[in-house]
Amino acid sequence: MYNLLYHKRRFFCLVLLLIIIAGCSTIAVTDPPVMANSKPLVSFVFDDGDETDYTVARDIFKAKGEVASTAVVTGWVNTENYLSVSQLSELRQDGWEIMSHTVSHPNLRDLSESQIDDELSMSKEALESWGLPVRNLVYPYNKSNKTVEKIAAKYYRAGRAGQKMLNGPDQDRYSLKSFSSELSFRHNMSHIKDHIDQAYAQKKWLILYQHLIDAKIKISDKQGSFMQDEMLMFKPSGASGKIIEDNRWSLVFIPLSGTPQIGDTVTGVSSGASAKLTRKEYNEREAITEMIEYIHSTYPEMRIVTIDQGLDLMGMP
Ligand SMILES: [Zn+2]
Repeated sequence: MYNLLYHKRRFFCLVLLLIIIAGCSTIAVTDPPVMANSKPLVSFVFDDGDETDYTVARDIFKAKGEVASTAVVTGWVNTENYLSVSQLSELRQDGWEIMSHTVSHPNLRDLSESQIDDELSMSKEALESWGLPVRNLVYPYNKSNKTVEKIAAKYYRAGRAGQKMLNGPDQDRYSLKSFSSELSFRHNMSHIKDHIDQAYAQKKWLILYQHLIDAKIKISDKQGSFMQDEMLMFKPSGASGKIIEDNRWSLVFIPLSGTPQIGDTVTGVSSGASAKLTRKEYNEREAITEMIEYIHSTYPEMRIVTIDQGLDLMGMP
């Protein structure tokens, strides 16, 4: 009797063990190793507070129903070619996040603790005094260390650095990782699409950053000289821009509206100078638009978010 019971119990235990093993192996096969809050997200951050955040990027994101983040050097606000306080207020009203990028853009690693504290606290105070609440920081040159991050934690929810990695919910939020998008915009757009594909597949957060939004074209048949900062008109495409650099065989400009096309005649509105557009080197206005369209059409459920929204969605404190 005792023996029979013992065997029954042993048989029962064996079956139970098999059920548990079977259950575990099913879990291991069906569940990828993704943390609970992990989601595929993309953020676009514009570093330094260039005026093109307002004159170029604002329209692009608005037209697509999306928002971005601008990381502002407060000592440069209201100076030539940088955002003004009223432009920043409008971006904020559109849903953009205003981030701090320090007062004077130093390499924070080279500063004393009190100097770091000043850069981080005073930039936050300046933005708040302009009616612009700020929660997150971008380290100049993407450079931080443990001391910088410890001081950042006194004033900010998170800090962004570089290092070309995607972010998961377990990422140290004072060391958020990011990729430069402008290098890809100029050379190889497929690199950025690869990052987006990976972020989607791994349910991770891709943070892209860039600076001034510009475009470069090759020209021929140049007549006269273009003037510094003058407006450019492209015909027949109807595009417009503002010149940054006039070289003999190329022009660098801010792509204010439309899409210049090969064969266009470009004319300086003030100088009357003109040239033929023979090749497009890059156009960051088009590139940003293409990235948003790629996300919308390929991964409709992938969200484009500000840094603060990304932290919320990833469940980071
Ligand atoms: Zn910067």
